[in-house]
Amino acid sequence: MDESTVVEAVEKRLFIDGKWVDATRGATFDVVDPSTGKVLCAVADASPADGRAALEAAVAAQPEFARTSPRERSDLLMAAYQLLTDRVDELALLMTLEMGKPLPEARGEIAYAAEFFRHFAGEALRIDGGYQTAPAGNARFLITKQPVGPCLLITPWNFPMAMGTRKLGPAIAAGCTSVIKPAHQTPLSMLALMGILAGAGLPAGAVNCVTAMDAGGVMEPLIRSGLARKLSFTGSTRVGRILLEQCAEKVLRTSLELGGNAPFIVFEDADLDEAVTGAIAAKMRNMGEACTAANRIFVHESVIDEFGRRLAERMGALTVGRGTEPDVQVGPLIDEAGLEKVRSLVADAVGRGATVLTGGEVASGNGSRQGYFYPPTVLTGVPREAAMADQEIFGPVAPLTPFSTEDEVVRAANDTEYGLVAYVFTNDLRRALRVAESIETGMVGLNQGIVSNPAAPFGGVKQSGLGREGGAVGIEEFLETKYIGIAMN
Ligand code: ADP
Repeated sequence: MDESTVVEAVEKRLFIDGKWVDATRGATFDVVDPSTGKVLCAVADASPADGRAALEAAVAAQPEFARTSPRERSDLLMAAYQLLTDRVDELALLMTLEMGKPLPEARGEIAYAAEFFRHFAGEALRIDGGYQTAPAGNARFLITKQPVGPCLLITPWNFPMAMGTRKLGPAIAAGCTSVIKPAHQTPLSMLALMGILAGAGLPAGAVNCVTAMDAGGVMEPLIRSGLARKLSFTGSTRVGRILLEQCAEKVLRTSLELGGNAPFIVFEDADLDEAVTGAIAAKMRNMGEACTAANRIFVHESVIDEFGRRLAERMGALTVGRGTEPDVQVGPLIDEAGLEKVRSLVADAVGRGATVLTGGEVASGNGSRQGYFYPPTVLTGVPREAAMADQEIFGPVAPLTPFSTEDEVVRAANDTEYGLVAYVFTNDLRRALRVAESIETGMVGLNQGIVSNPAAPFGGVKQSGLGREGGAVGIEEFLETKYIGIAMN
């Protein structure tokens, strides 16, 4: 399929109670291709009343969906997995058009997204319980798991498909109905996913999707309504805090996957080539637009010059361009605001004494190219005071900082309000375990630059969030434990 056919083929309306419906008064908003700045199409712009209708559909469908057998829910997820896999090419193109990532990365994301469905198809069959004798012997405890109830799911633009399946997989597996709201920048992948779920046999109302420009205006009344029992959110820490407060009113269960500020530590005994490859993976996946992106790269002072030289050489050789073009490795950033943020963070670091090894505005510039492109950039000597030491860069910029001792680098790595992931490169086993244990994050990549895996528990500590997605524990976030006490006199 070509670009316009792929865009035309997607439903652009709201998906409520198993039907495609227009937003109130036919309102729409535009979706923009970040590689050209041009409008791709318009999609329905939900009003608060549309959001309410979606949640009411989820509430109405909940009792029956909770009664479906684990096997039915597992089969549904496997059917959706198969459709995602069969349609990888068109779905990848759609994602590249709305989000910008190069086609090979988009294909990788569809495969990754599909894996969440396959993983949770298995977990649906393994929801367990227990049977226990009371300590006094006079009673038995029957412990069972039940779906939490209707869920509100909010996803970001950087992984438009995988962040959807990572929430919908466990929600469906657990027997929870939901309303999902994708980011306004990338609604098309989620709308395509609704078509896939419908094709896989999703019962009406079990998943509903609202696309909206005014996320807060639509979601806040739903959170405060008391009709939903849970919120699962992936996005910024700023918005996560607001949502956590809103959830307090009706005491909703919450899962929050928020921002990161990942340290990437290279010790003097590391294999430098492996570390450079790891840094490129951790930095350049998704153009650096990932909460897991290496945000602060600490390199031992004895190897920082060599590491910087090799990293700059490889980063500088990456091909930047429109994600649909062959051989492109780095696509555009999501929008003007994203580009502006990266520009100002680099200017701030350089103003505070950092040196540009490759890239930067001056070296490559944005030229006359349309779209929100920023060149792969390596900075060295980035001081602690630089704004990028505290803020997510969300762009293809690798800031290097030297260190001399293990204690010093662990302290520096933990000197942040975030705690999502850390990367550690060393060949010393004891040091690797010591550092992995002392780092305040939910995940550690040891001699590897990518940790995401549907079968592993993904999540952060500190202000990077609450709860875990994926792994065997991912489904627990969507289950309540009920204990039934049985008298045995
Ligand atoms: P980013 O900075 O990566 O865009 P956000 O946290 O702003 O991250 O957005 C992540 C998701 O949260 C998107 O779907 C967005 O529409 C939604 N969102 C943003 N603000 C709010 C809000 N006040 N209430 C509910 N959802 C919101």
